[in-house]
Amino acid sequence: MGTRINLSIPEANSEAIFKLLFNRAQVIEKRMSSQYQDSEVSQINRQAGLGFVRVSADTFLVIKTALEIAQRSNGAFNPALGPMIQLWDIGGDNARVPAPKEIEALLGLIDYKQVSLNEPSLSVKLEKSGMRLDLGAIAKGYAADELIKIAKEAGVKRAIFDLGGNIFVFGSKTGTQAWRIGIQRPDQDRGSLMGILEARDLTLVTSGNYERYFEQDGKRYHHILDSKTGAPSQSDVDQVSIISNRSSMYCDALSTTCFVLGREKGLKFMQQFPDYQAVFVGKDRKLVATGNFDRALLIDLESDFTWAPQQSN
Ligand code: ADP
Ligand code: MG
Repeated sequence: MGTRINLSIPEANSEAIFKLLFNRAQVIEKRMSSQYQDSEVSQINRQAGLGFVRVSADTFLVIKTALEIAQRSNGAFNPALGPMIQLWDIGGDNARVPAPKEIEALLGLIDYKQVSLNEPSLSVKLEKSGMRLDLGAIAKGYAADELIKIAKEAGVKRAIFDLGGNIFVFGSKTGTQAWRIGIQRPDQDRGSLMGILEARDLTLVTSGNYERYFEQDGKRYHHILDSKTGAPSQSDVDQVSIISNRSSMYCDALSTTCFVLGREKGLKFMQQFPDYQAVFVGKDRKLVATGNFDRALLIDLESDFTWAPQQSN
């Protein structure tokens, strides 16, 4: 995942708690990142077409959830996109636009239905040789959930965690003040904000086309792929945020899914997840949210972004 982690706990000056949290994050990364040769995900990938690999309960749960979202989104979310992600290498040293032939050759190796799970033995198998799992769109959310759990168990009363854009806050900033989470503008460099979300006890995850990308011949290729075309997804949204007081893992997966689906299909898809709210930022700079989102929480909205007329969902 190669992610920056920022943990802020106003009342904790104990090194021990930070150490506990960073260690846990590292264990999760070392189990789930396809960048580590000896991660559990890499072991599953090496055994593709050969056999089941036993994994930790962490990795099993994340893969199981990823497959659930894949099914419910009809493949818009796809943890089996690994071969295609590797081919494009967006954000990596070998990023390039592949020839259509190269993409076609891999389309048969990205079917999430060919991922088999054996729950009693916590084992996972990729049915075809050449398949590869990639948990890049969900693992950070799981890590955020785990760190919050640990902090709460350790008696922490308020904190804000940022795991590469997966934000989790709990408690309030001070006795009376909520936390304020900046939401990045999709069209400018990191640090320019579109607005601020006032929050207590919630998690916010944003997927956007500016996060990781490369440009070739004046065209931008971002890092979220559409399984149908094997190319960066194209829709009417530049960015989607998912907000909830439940699971950051689901927020992470749902934000990637909604980014692929776009506004209309995304709103419909989100009806399956009443505990999760979504804010879509259109290419037209119009904002649309699911009906369960309280717009009043989004403050200091930059004037060139406006709410589209309320839709029912
Ligand atoms: P970020 O990593 O920027 O927070 P996401 O959570 O949206 O963004 O995850 C993007 C990553 O997920 C990609 O870098 C890739 O590893 C993987 N990925 C790309 N397209 C998909 C997809 N359609 N479904 C699931 N995972 C994807
Ligand atoms: Mg995601």
